Order: sequence, then structure tokens, then C-alpha cells
Amino acid sequence: MKYLSILIFLSSQIIFAHNVDLTHLPLGDGKLSQEPKKGWIWACGVDPHGQGAQGTPEWIHSDGTYDLTKKAVVSGSVNWPSKFVISTVGDKRVFTLNDFPKHPTGIYPIGPSDAAYAFDKNPSKISEQSMSFSIPKDPVLAAQASCAAGAVGVLLSGAVLFNALDAPGRDAVAHETQDKCQGHPQESGVYHYHNVSSCVEDKRDASGHSALVGYALDGFGIYGHYGEGGKELSSDDLDECHGHTHEIVWNGKKVKMYHYHATWDFPYTVGCFRGSYESESVRIISGPPPQHILRERGRRGLPKHPPDLKIASGKLGISESALREALGPPPPDLSISAKKLGISLEKLRDALGAPPREP
Ligand SMILES: [Zn+2]
Ligand SMILES: [Zn+2]
Repeated sequence: MKYLSILIFLSSQIIFAHNVDLTHLPLGDGKLSQEPKKGWIWACGVDPHGQGAQGTPEWIHSDGTYDLTKKAVVSGSVNWPSKFVISTVGDKRVFTLNDFPKHPTGIYPIGPSDAAYAFDKNPSKISEQSMSFSIPKDPVLAAQASCAAGAVGVLLSGAVLFNALDAPGRDAVAHETQDKCQGHPQESGVYHYHNVSSCVEDKRDASGHSALVGYALDGFGIYGHYGEGGKELSSDDLDECHGHTHEIVWNGKKVKMYHYHATWDFPYTVGCFRGSYESESVRIISGPPPQHILRERGRRGLPKHPPDLKIASGKLGISESALREALGPPPPDLSISAKKLGISLEKLRDALGAPPREP
């Protein structure tokens, strides 16, 4: 009896050592916004045909919460030859990576003998990527926030960070099955996380604030779970894009500056971008488009690779975010997008560099 109560005491310490109850985290499904909104995600678009885990796993409760501590974890411990180089060139921070993480991963594709297979039959394997892109070294706040694309940044583990959603637009952390470092590959083999991996150490500085754990594509830093004075943060403590401004160490100097934080609750990391980012970087770290998207692009007479929206929006004389919104989830239906923008289909096709439509 005595041992039992000690056990109960210990397990409650683990669960309530956090500000948030990890056994009853609010499910993020449906928290999709078209503008910056605290605790929600302003995603540029979701793919309604995208593949995700099927059914409702046992760790998702009927009251709209889920138990993170009961989630199935993909087994295995596979090491990878990670290549991850960050350098600074002028006012840019340049990344070169093969997306293999520095930590071990689970065995993918998930095998039928893995207990996780019952919940997620992810058939993808991890494959080497060749990614190279740059972000501003000293990012500044944009006049307006912009929507969070599918891929939002890179963690210091050497692998990419996607936003909080799975392909069809549900809470990926709650629904999808990942390994013990919270990573898994998507259809084209890109190993990625949907929250800050527990395999990236959440170091703390003397004041208790978390250290840097990664970079968002707009150049701002992503920090761990702890804010000023060592307070464990939740979405309520942060702004609509999941960040805040105070003094941090940046490029070796103390500066008052915006940054994002990890939280245990949805949307976990970047909810929208406070700085500006290049669509090209999103394209690079998203990896090659999955086969079903390529087929659909071909069927709709679109070029194989998504166009550079910066160039296209320049041609049309509109903002990149307005164009991104009008295009919606990939692949776009250009006649609908042209109507939304109030321009002709030909003009839009021309700006995007799409080949002329067959009659
Ligand atoms: Zn995923
Ligand atoms: Zn902070």
C-alpha cells in the first residue's frame, strides 16, 4: 500500500511537472484560421487529399483532448550520417543539410510487427535530401504577419520542422505516429517534426530562459519551452504567431528581439510568420512534392514544380501573401484562384509560368 501511494505520487509528479496537463492536451483539430489567432494556426493551405494516420487512436479522448504520454511510439534506433552546416555570409544565415538528424530515429517504413503499425501504417522511408537555403541573419518584423507554410523551419538536430498540421489539416502531434524524437518521414522521405523534438536538449541560460533550438524560415529564432524567469510557456503566454519580444542573446550579443517558443500545447511552434520569408525556402525544405500532387499538377496543366511566388506576385503587382492565399492548398485550381484575385485566367497562368492549356 505504501509503495503504491509512492508510485502514484511519482507518476503524478511526472504529469504535473508541467504547467499543462500532458494527459489532457486540447486537440488542435479545426483550429485553422485565415488570420493571426492566438493558439490557432494560420496555415497557407492544407491538402484535402493528403494522407495521414487513419481512425481515432486510443490516446485521443472523446472530450476533445489527447494523452501525449499514451501515444504509440515508432520503435527502433537507427543512426544516420547527418550533414548540417550553418554559416553566415553577409547578412544571410546559410544552411546546407541532408536532413538526416544527429539523433537516432525509429525504423521506417513502420513494420507490421511494430505496435505503432496498428495506428499509423506510414509506408515512407527516410531518405537523404540535398537542401540549401538562406534566411536573414538579423530578421526584422514585417508590416504584416503571413501564413505558415507546411514547412516552417529547421531544428538544431539537423532535420526540418513542419507546422502543427498533418497533410489533411489535423493536429499532427495528436494524430500522427512518430518515433521517440517525434520525427517521421513524409511521402518523399523528408524526416520532419511537427513540434520541437525532445531530442534537442532544452538548455537554459542563467535566467532560466530556454536556449535556441532552431530557426524559423523568416530568420527568427525558435527557443525551447521556457520563457523569462524560467516560466514554462503555453500558447496563452505568446502572441498569435507563437512568439514574443524581450532581450535574448542573438549572434553573440544581447538584444531585445522577437522570437518563437516551443510549447506543449497546439500549435506547438510557429503559428504564423512575423517576419518575411521566401517561398523558395519553403519549397526546398518541404522536399520533392509527393507523387499524388505531381499527378494532379500534370492533370491540371501546371508546371511540375511550384512557381516562385515572389516573382509571380511581382508580375501581378500584388503581395506574395495575397497570391498564396488565392492559390490555396496545393495543387491550386487556377480558374478559382484567378476569380478570387479578380484577374483573367490567362494573366494568372502567365505570371505563374504555367504552360498554355490544351484546348
Ligand atoms: Zn508529419
Ligand atoms: Zn522568450
